[in-house]
Amino acid sequence: MLTKGWAVVPLAPRRPSRGSRQLLQCEHCDYSCPRPADLRKHLRTHTGERPYKCHHCDRWFGDISNRRAHMRKWHASEMGQ
Ligand SMILES: [Zn+2]
Ligand SMILES: [Zn+2]
Repeated sequence: MLTKGWAVVPLAPRRPSRGSRQLLQCEHCDYSCPRPADLRKHLRTHTGERPYKCHHCDRWFGDISNRRAHMRKWHASEMGQ
């Protein structure tokens, strides 16, 4: 089941050639994006859900790229770089 926390809003076409596109708008802030996966990822910033744990310490991250950035910054030596 999908958690309601977003709405589909039509995006005003800036270029006539592309026709109409849709943007997913976050209900909690001004964030919007075209892909549901991106919005789900963004919604975690509101729900506080952090599914990605650092392999080297006890920190949790809501975004896998944030975890990667953290590991690169703090655990570069442990990662063998
Ligand atoms: Zn938001
Ligand atoms: Zn860590």
